[in-house]
Amino acid sequence: MNGNHYNLNLKDILKKVFFVDLIQGLFITFNYTFSKTITLRYPDEEKWIPYRRFRGLHTLNRNKEGKELCVGCELCQKSCPTQCITVVPMQDKTGKGIADRIAYRWEINLLRCMFCGLCEDACPTEALKLGREYELANTSMQRSLWTKEELLAAQEIPVEFDGGVIVRARLERDDKGLKVIPDMSVQKRWW
Ligand code: SF4
Ligand code: SF4
Repeated sequence: MNGNHYNLNLKDILKKVFFVDLIQGLFITFNYTFSKTITLRYPDEEKWIPYRRFRGLHTLNRNKEGKELCVGCELCQKSCPTQCITVVPMQDKTGKGIADRIAYRWEINLLRCMFCGLCEDACPTEALKLGREYELANTSMQRSLWTKEELLAAQEIPVEFDGGVIVRARLERDDKGLKVIPDMSVQKRWW
């Protein structure tokens, strides 16, 4: 037993004398130098584009002719558990009555939204979708209120784009703050 104890100590002493632990650590670091990097250079150069099933900022959509799909039925407002959607309906200019209603006001307070998607499920016309915009941090409570006009604007990431990739991106500042602009033509898989 004394011999084993003596051998164990000698092994530890030899490891210390020849810096075995340090060399092993350096070897692991050295190996990582040549392995494929998984670090994302976000937000200056790269941006993650989520899959289509992602639930980010809401979008209001139009049909192929450019007509708003939202008919101001208020079902999204009624189905929202946090009551963060406000819809005020009106008739459009066609004079066809209630069948051609559109939203006079459609507004969402993202501070209360939990991105559950119930509003999207409730929408009978597929006007309302939760999109893939996730850069929603801001320093103004007012910026968390999104209006119909803002949500009807064309989305940077088109529905047809599959997602699940890193694309090249650049950082820009506009009146809403900092924005990461994606370039979908240059992309790579995350893994
Ligand atoms: S995602 Fe959920 S919480 Fe957010 S607006 Fe829709 S229903 Fe309300
Ligand atoms: S977004 Fe859909 S559910 Fe909401 S008011 Fe418009 S049509 Fe109705």
